[in-house]
Amino acid sequence: MPSFNPVSADLIAQLITILGSVNVSTARADIDLHAKDQSQHHAVPSEVVIWPLSAQQVADVLKLAHEQRVPVTPWGVGTGLEGNSIPVRGGILMSFERMNQIVAIHADDFQVTVQPGIGHKDLNAQLARHGLFFPPDPGANATVGGMLANNAAGIRTVKYGASKDNVLKMQVALADGRLIHVGSRSVKQSAGYDLLHLFVGSEGTLGVITEATLKLVPVPTHMSAALAAFPSIKSAVETVVAIRGSGLDPAALELIDANHCRMLREAEGINLSDHPTLFMEFHAAQETALTAGLEIVEDICKEMGALSFHATTDATERKKLWHARHHSYEIMVRSHPDKTFFINDVAVPISAYPELIATVEHIRDTQPITCYMIGHAGDGNIHVEFPFSGEEGYQQAMTANGLIVSKAVELGGTCTGEHGVGIGKAKYLRAEHGQALDVMHDIKTLLDPNGILNPGKIFVEG
Ligand SMILES: Cc1cc2nc3c(=O)[nH]c(=O)nc-3n(C[C@H](O)[C@H](O)[C@H](O)COP(=O)(O)OP(=O)(O)OC[C@H]3O[C@@H](n4cnc5c(N)ncnc54)[C@H](O)[C@@H]3O)c2cc1C
Repeated sequence: MPSFNPVSADLIAQLITILGSVNVSTARADIDLHAKDQSQHHAVPSEVVIWPLSAQQVADVLKLAHEQRVPVTPWGVGTGLEGNSIPVRGGILMSFERMNQIVAIHADDFQVTVQPGIGHKDLNAQLARHGLFFPPDPGANATVGGMLANNAAGIRTVKYGASKDNVLKMQVALADGRLIHVGSRSVKQSAGYDLLHLFVGSEGTLGVITEATLKLVPVPTHMSAALAAFPSIKSAVETVVAIRGSGLDPAALELIDANHCRMLREAEGINLSDHPTLFMEFHAAQETALTAGLEIVEDICKEMGALSFHATTDATERKKLWHARHHSYEIMVRSHPDKTFFINDVAVPISAYPELIATVEHIRDTQPITCYMIGHAGDGNIHVEFPFSGEEGYQQAMTANGLIVSKAVELGGTCTGEHGVGIGKAKYLRAEHGQALDVMHDIKTLLDPNGILNPGKIFVEG
């Protein structure tokens, strides 16, 4: 485990010289606001919160921290679900809340260059006037920097890919203060090692993203939403595999379990029955293509035993459905006011999805736990949500989580589809990656020899 120095009064003075006093705070309220993300992991206070305004300031701060062996934890907006941005070793909390501008819109190239602290929803609101959007959508208004660092995905990944598939170039500040560019604005690139995708998903442990050029897509002309309810989770997930195998190209293909359906009906007034339901969205350039696709989906759902099927092209109804889907986690949490929630996130190849879900059902029925399921089923990704209270409840949820992770890895999948490793998944990386984990550690040591960047994440510290 690397050893660090505390933040000294001298370092605070140097930070103020670089950033200005309004962008450096040791106030309790600021420390507390940046001590915990949206996960169940405990809050840990940093010693100072800073808000850089430029890439050069980020690089200058990192150089200082590297020389003085002080930890630096980047912070987007704290919506992570694995403790990814919790400053577990104290030190400097580097918030990107004030580096949130669009640098340039390259509309003719379907690209935008942004500072890392811009929220993806705010970005898309500004891109709408150009008829373009950045597709990865993790629900929460996460920052582009946090999304790239976690390789966040969300409901539209099945068609448009995750964050890693929608970035072309980044500027990255290294631990020793070097400021480098990785990738290029060309859509095709094969010049040397792919450093761009080394930093994507590295959770702020290899470098700090100070600018990113993102791929955009035109806002689809025609969109529809469809709901299909099934008698069992088994028939619902088998339908997911059938739809993916049909050659149709859903823009979203989500599984909501019966409990979630009940809660969404009660909280949001959505017309759902108490059955596992698939939420789907389709995009097309022509209405006829959309209608033809919906007919095929309806046929597949009915053949697979759907109890009901409802499709709409009405924009208001479609937005209402997805608003409900996006808020399903908050609705679930609100309905258990006396519980803490822990969310599992695993993904498998699509053909193995039914077996994974059957295993989750078996664990739910045989372990002393309560759990609910909601998933980006089209990607073979499931989130199992565990409400718990007390240490015993937490350990029971963790045991069930471990069983689900083991099954996902055994099925050729991964311990985390989109939330990242953070604190909670570090212990599963050896089982998933074997010796490749040592190579990851070598890369970490090369780029961050003093271990100052987001320590306590990805690797188990012994
Ligand atoms: C209700 C809810 C629903 C969610 N749904 C989804 C979902 O469907 N799909 C999904 O993928 N995620 C989902 N998430 C998780 C979360 O939104 C993502 O993990 C997101 O990427 C976090 O972004 P953030 O800006 O909040 O970053 P933070 O949580 O602040 O930080 C995340 C990681 O990024 C690092 N980081 C931040 N900025 C930088 C930077 N500039 N350079 C380098 N590293 C940086 C941090 O150190 C940390 O490791 C959900 C979260 C919530 C609360």
